[in-house]
Amino acid sequence: MKTSEKIALTSWLRKKKAATLGFVAMVALGATVAAEVWPAPENDAADATMAAIRPEGIRAGMLFLADDLLEGRGTATRGHEIAAKYMASQFEEIGLQPAGDNGTYFQEVPLRKGQVDGTKTSLTLVRDGNQEKLVFRENFIALADAGRTETSVEAPVVFVGDGVTAPELGHDDYKGIDAKGKIVVFVFGAPNFESTLKAHYSSFEVKAANAVAHGASGSILLDDPVLEQVYPFKEMVRDLAFPQFRWLDKQGKPNDYWPELKGHATLNLEAAKRFFEGTGHTAEDVFGAIKTGKPTSFSTPWTAKIHNESKLEDVKSPNVVAKLEGSDPALKNEFVVYSAHLDHVGIGEPEKGDNIYNGALDNASGSAILLELARAFSRMNPRPRRSILFVSVTGEEAGLLGSDYFAHYPTVAKESVVANLNMDEDLMLWPLEDIIAFGAEHSTLQTVMEAAAKRMNLSLSPDPMPDEVVFIRSDQYSFVKQGVPSVFPVPGFKSNDPKIKPMEIFKNWEATRYHHPGDDMNQPGLRFDEAAKYARFMFFCGYLVANEPQRPAWKKGDFFGGRYGKK
Ligand SMILES: [Zn+2]
Repeated sequence: MKTSEKIALTSWLRKKKAATLGFVAMVALGATVAAEVWPAPENDAADATMAAIRPEGIRAGMLFLADDLLEGRGTATRGHEIAAKYMASQFEEIGLQPAGDNGTYFQEVPLRKGQVDGTKTSLTLVRDGNQEKLVFRENFIALADAGRTETSVEAPVVFVGDGVTAPELGHDDYKGIDAKGKIVVFVFGAPNFESTLKAHYSSFEVKAANAVAHGASGSILLDDPVLEQVYPFKEMVRDLAFPQFRWLDKQGKPNDYWPELKGHATLNLEAAKRFFEGTGHTAEDVFGAIKTGKPTSFSTPWTAKIHNESKLEDVKSPNVVAKLEGSDPALKNEFVVYSAHLDHVGIGEPEKGDNIYNGALDNASGSAILLELARAFSRMNPRPRRSILFVSVTGEEAGLLGSDYFAHYPTVAKESVVANLNMDEDLMLWPLEDIIAFGAEHSTLQTVMEAAAKRMNLSLSPDPMPDEVVFIRSDQYSFVKQGVPSVFPVPGFKSNDPKIKPMEIFKNWEATRYHHPGDDMNQPGLRFDEAAKYARFMFFCGYLVANEPQRPAWKKGDFFGGRYGKK
């Protein structure tokens, strides 16, 4: 899973139950969406296939992909290239057809790689003729500008709260603010809308586009207690060791790039507090008010000067795409896409003498499960009615790049992609009792999740931590933005054993191993039998979608369906 930095930070960036037999029409959330689900009878081919999903198969894939020899699978590195060759080789061995470019398993993604030059990048705040020069890495950071090796901006500063304009939700942080030609300052996150909408409005792309729509010439993100929890400033500094990336379109233009924003920086908590001094507001008051959803925007006595110098280089990195052809003569021309990101962050600052960020759970786990699912589906007789694409994407950690590129330029007809089921960071650290299906409620995929959960004797749980904005932090969001009904099912935090506390296990894992060298195969507590259970759930979801007579549809009046779906 990508960090929230990639979401919030920089100009680079910135998550009626089906009957057991036959199909039933469902009415979802009072809307008149009739979803037909066709659960297979018990003890049929689906059962046999689920039984064939093996914990050892998942472990074997992870052992290879998370090995030190793959050097953390950083995007556009040798380690990731080897991982991609491995995936292609496995797909071929399984008997899947190549579905990348030119009859190969690979879709090359053109990327712009950037690294900021911290010695030449500066941020100065000016007030009443006094200059306050901030120190790179200590008080602020900036990432590379994807379009320019050198850029500068000097302008008055306005504070715009969360920086969110959401008219359909009755919220506008720019109300009464003139941001034209100014540098806008905002904090991480969004008001407490429903979890996925909060996540959407927290994304840097949405905030940057909004700033540009209001005429801003630069932007600054303030660290605050919420962001400090999700992505501590010291980790942002550590992560400067990793390059940044954007994908390039046919004209060579970087994705999600706004040249109107001529500078961007992130201030640490201490600098953020000083920023509020003399504005008539304290940091505490402002952060508190923002948390309650009250718009808190004002002009400030500051002028800011941002200067950024970056090294840029154009590189390539592959998505790996394989196809299992469906058995229905008509429906085989439609595709259910399983995705899992193969990249991780690579080699970074050492911790306890280890500089390889292996990414065993993040996301060798999802990649190994992708292979195990491919193996399982390939042995089915009859095969599912729709075709299935297995897409092993690159550049996720750098901003969902491989999936965004694939969703923009799929290697099959764009309108033939009916759904995306994404897997990232399978937390196989406790017995699986429930699933959190991020994004399911927006489409008829909710019905599929309900049927699969029932079949697997799992329950479905709501998002327990909306501040983490998980919905925009993995690859399904790329498909959502291209109008494809998508879902990101992850293990929930229920426990039937009072001695096992999943939320505690997760918080500890997140603090010590998430995007640390310690997310490797030596970490304690990996339960491959639970990973297999999760894989069986994911299998059954895809199986249902592939066999339903109707392709998944956005719910009537849905936010994402209305914004990105077919008009
Ligand atoms: Zn990650």
